[in-house]
Amino acid sequence: MIETLQDAIVLGGGPAGLTAAILLSREGFDVICADPLFKRLEAKTPYEDNRTIALLQGAIRLLQHTGIWPLVEVEATPLWTMRVEDETGRWPKAPAMNFNARELGDEPFGYNIPIPVITAALWKTAKKCKGLKLVSESASEVESKSQAVEITLEDGRTYSAPLLIAADGRNSRARGAAGIKVNRWTYNQTALALTFSHSRPHKNISVEYHRKPGPFTIIPMQGNRSALVWVETPPEAKRLLGLDDHELTGIMQHHMRGRLGKLSGLSARNAFPVTGLTAREYAANRVALVGETAHVLPPIGAQGLNLGLRDAALIAELAARARRRGDDPGAPELTREYDRKRRFDIFPRTAAVDFLNRSLLFGIPPVQGLRAAGLCLLKNMPSLRRTIMQQGLVEDKDLPQIMRRA
Ligand SMILES: Cc1cc2nc3c(=O)[nH]c(=O)nc-3n(C[C@H](O)[C@H](O)[C@H](O)COP(=O)(O)OP(=O)(O)OC[C@H]3O[C@@H](n4cnc5c(N)ncnc54)[C@H](O)[C@@H]3O)c2cc1C
Repeated sequence: MIETLQDAIVLGGGPAGLTAAILLSREGFDVICADPLFKRLEAKTPYEDNRTIALLQGAIRLLQHTGIWPLVEVEATPLWTMRVEDETGRWPKAPAMNFNARELGDEPFGYNIPIPVITAALWKTAKKCKGLKLVSESASEVESKSQAVEITLEDGRTYSAPLLIAADGRNSRARGAAGIKVNRWTYNQTALALTFSHSRPHKNISVEYHRKPGPFTIIPMQGNRSALVWVETPPEAKRLLGLDDHELTGIMQHHMRGRLGKLSGLSARNAFPVTGLTAREYAANRVALVGETAHVLPPIGAQGLNLGLRDAALIAELAARARRRGDDPGAPELTREYDRKRRFDIFPRTAAVDFLNRSLLFGIPPVQGLRAAGLCLLKNMPSLRRTIMQQGLVEDKDLPQIMRRA
């Protein structure tokens, strides 16, 4: 098969990969993005995914600057307050705590958007991008060479480029081809995701009930509807999946203690094993990792895709800068810079989410005591609370350019 030369290849067209491809093509790159799931997007028959994604302001600004925001805005729900409630039954009980975005300024923490809406908007945008070729094929081979990376698709077509962006998910073939190793771990937890209606308004408050098996999180959607991410042990999750809507509603109602009134209209349920993964390097040998190829986190604190979009934005920014200077966009200096910058963002967040999740699971007494004391302090010290909220978000100066305020 004839090999086609590109400026960049993006392998994997999930939300992180499609974003990277769109950003590169906006910078004038000739890009190919390959994913076998494009067939489904084209036929508008994606897999029924009931997850919603809470995107923080940096990610929202990226969507605004790329013209994607108007395509998702009508389904996006502002998140003004994040409430944490200790339902572990452990001593000492931590006080309930509200983190309100109004304490920081006049914009919400971010917006909650159904994942199929995000994917459809990215797909629609990508199809219109000049210089972006979308191929509905899987890569069967990836080879990193000194001057280029080569991929061979299932249909035999071959492409090569100086830079490959690996967005092919947690079991990435491209990551292996670059010789990048990963650390993986499991938690003996399953996350159920579904959406439901309720009789009382959610008032744009997201509530995370901290329970022994894991968090039970309600995230506001449009109208009197919310999304639920419910983390349980795998056998309990299996039992819950087998219940009818009436039985499941009763248990949900019990966990929420009537907060949202009468529940109804449950969507189908999706189940995700809760696992962790972090790449030991985020780029090497002309391959840069973005999204779940680089990091997988438990669904706590809305970190996963927010990190993935920051990966995509940074690699596009660095590649575009190299191109403007007439430099090689896959050169070792560039991949080293990407690796170094992403480390500062990914490592502390992965560690914090891991710690929070394990502290719920194992109920280490000093940790429970510290958490209770910490939340008491935060409740009574607005300045400390503001500092913690600011650190939970990402400072403007640490964001890729396209995600910054001005
Ligand atoms: C219950 C739950 C709730 C969550 N909530 C949030 C939230 O509120 N906020 C947040 O930021 N994150 C959240 N996340 C995380 C978020 O869902 C993920 O980070 C995100 O969906 C991952 O996107 P991705 O593009 O990195 O990977 P994927 O969507 O997995 O994309 C990988 C793509 O690569 C393709 N592929 C694989 N192999 C090949 C190959 N050989 N050739 C070509 N293509 C290939 C696949 O077909 C796939 O489309 C949540 C996760 C869960 C489980």
